[in-house]
Amino acid sequence: MKISNGLLFAIAMTSASAQDIHAPARAKMADEIAVMARDTASETGRAAFGLRVMSAITKVERHRFVATGDEANAYRNRPLAIGNGQTISQPYIVALMTDLLDLKPGDKVLEIGTGSGYQAAVLAELASTVYTIEIVEPLGRLAAQRLLAAGYRNVIARIGDGYQGWREAAPFDAIMVTAAAREVPPALIEQLKPDGKLVIPVGSQTSHQELLVITKSADGATQTRRVLAVRFVPLTGGPAPKK
Ligand code: SAH
Repeated sequence: MKISNGLLFAIAMTSASAQDIHAPARAKMADEIAVMARDTASETGRAAFGLRVMSAITKVERHRFVATGDEANAYRNRPLAIGNGQTISQPYIVALMTDLLDLKPGDKVLEIGTGSGYQAAVLAELASTVYTIEIVEPLGRLAAQRLLAAGYRNVIARIGDGYQGWREAAPFDAIMVTAAAREVPPALIEQLKPDGKLVIPVGSQTSHQELLVITKSADGATQTRRVLAVRFVPLTGGPAPKK
């Protein structure tokens, strides 16, 4: 069949617009995140997030990670339900937590709480390898499929209790926990490299939580900075409750 130039052009336009249909909404979301970063600077200490972080946010297709049927809300700067009582975090919080890790291209990162897989995708844009653990099996499986479908080959996903970290893959340059812990899991500090950073929401499972950045120094000592009051779903698993 002979295809006219005009038809070829039309086909090219259709596939380009099919790929980029969400790009303007994504750019608008990134602008909203930048404004929010400026407005929260006195608390977070970061008036603007790094260029690499913002370009990852502008690139990762959040609509691929939201619940089926919820794509129209994917680029609103707010958390969304993803099933099994869990949520995909607010994009501003994803950007803030990512920025706080100060990732370098060669870094190996651990994420606890894969959820939708969106945060793992953002991390995968900035680091060399991302290990991510999810305790709810159907969520972890779906996220792994979506990460593969989106082309992320540098994310290793597994089902399990992230309270114990991921011993076989440790140590990590950076660790991010995306569910609220009652206390900082000791295994996560152990599995950080010297100069490594841990970003984790800590506090009551129902009310007050604070986002912490914990830096481990070369001698193994840790330094903690409180960043912002936050609201996350609880980190489950962990040690058996004390009697
Ligand atoms: N990072 C996710 C946010 C998910 S919400 C995203 O980008 O969508 C937090 C997730 O942590 C939930 O899916 C919850 O099931 C999971 N979670 C809670 N406790 C966990 C644990 N001990 N180990 C691994 N995952 C856990």
